[in-house]
Amino acid sequence: MTMIDVQQTRKPLSILSPTNDPWDPIRSLQQYGRHRLTSVEMTVSNLCNMRCEHCAVGDTLVISEPAKLPLKQMLERLDEVEHLETISITGGEPSFSDRTVREYMVPLLQYARSRGIRSQINSNVTLPYSRYEQLAPYLDVMHISFNYTSAEDFHQIGFAKAGHQVSLETATKLYERMIDNTRRLSDTGVLVSAESMINYRTFDKMDEIHRLIVEMGCQRHEVHPMYPSSFAKDLPVLSRQQMLGAIDQLLQTRDKSVWMLFGTLPFYQCSDHSSERELLRRLANEPNVTVRNDPDGRNRLNVNLFTGDVFVTDFSDVPAFGNINNTKLEDLFDKWLDHSLAQSVNCHCPAAACCGPNLLVKDMYYKDVNFHERTAISD
Ligand code: SF4
Repeated sequence: MTMIDVQQTRKPLSILSPTNDPWDPIRSLQQYGRHRLTSVEMTVSNLCNMRCEHCAVGDTLVISEPAKLPLKQMLERLDEVEHLETISITGGEPSFSDRTVREYMVPLLQYARSRGIRSQINSNVTLPYSRYEQLAPYLDVMHISFNYTSAEDFHQIGFAKAGHQVSLETATKLYERMIDNTRRLSDTGVLVSAESMINYRTFDKMDEIHRLIVEMGCQRHEVHPMYPSSFAKDLPVLSRQQMLGAIDQLLQTRDKSVWMLFGTLPFYQCSDHSSERELLRRLANEPNVTVRNDPDGRNRLNVNLFTGDVFVTDFSDVPAFGNINNTKLEDLFDKWLDHSLAQSVNCHCPAAACCGPNLLVKDMYYKDVNFHERTAISD
């Protein structure tokens, strides 16, 4: 499809904003009265130039990788998803190979545009700008990680698992390129959403991290507590109290013109702790702040493009439960909803616009809690 074809077939899309976040599964739950598959994430690379301490998929990274499934096969499976609203492309660093950018990523983004759906790429944006320049005309959200207050932080965190010495000088060049690429992408109209994790390194300097993210021109700051999934499972765990403190610091110091999106929080309106319910109320009343319900397995599935295997998330410990070689994505989604794990977090309190905890959060903080016996408390 040529660029002109894409522009001719493109439907008008409403602007992504705190009141329009199609990745939030509460939207489709409210619209259809049940969870629907509206989002598909595709893993297109297991290669990466970095080895971050916190990387959720770090143990799947390789130095050379096999061929991917034909793009046509993936597009045909996407075509079958009747209510598709968003796609996400992830890795590794998905743009690590220029060939993957040209032969998979650009066509997938063009497909999204032609179908009138939103797109996101998860990238470290440390590669030459030419990679991202090819994607920018068709891309809605460039999602980056930003957990740093300096190049030294980036060096320590970004190459913690490299297995060989990476000089501060090399890391600094990548850090500066990441900042420059972010500014350039923002200038071209791509919504750059920088995600920071609240963890043992960042919880007391979220204000400084936020300031740098705003300075880079990002229109959204996404904040998630870090949970010890597979590769990052040996990192120290924060208490819920420390997380509350970090969020409080952010709310006090944030730039209110920038959209702040909180996700995978370990707090729910059914909590026995009034301080947690109070925080949620505060977040709901803050301008330009949203709390996104967890999409994994609620409106989204992940497809590994090397094998066709389908997962709940790109980093889940839950094994693949099907393959696009022989099954439609919507059938796999329905199969997942019947799974006992999905059922264990499948609660819904309309008054709180909440559709239950993330699987990792439940496993970490609420192992013995039956969420089906709880309900949102209105204070
Ligand atoms: S939907 Fe589930 S997690 Fe959310 S408030 Fe209700 S019972 Fe709690």
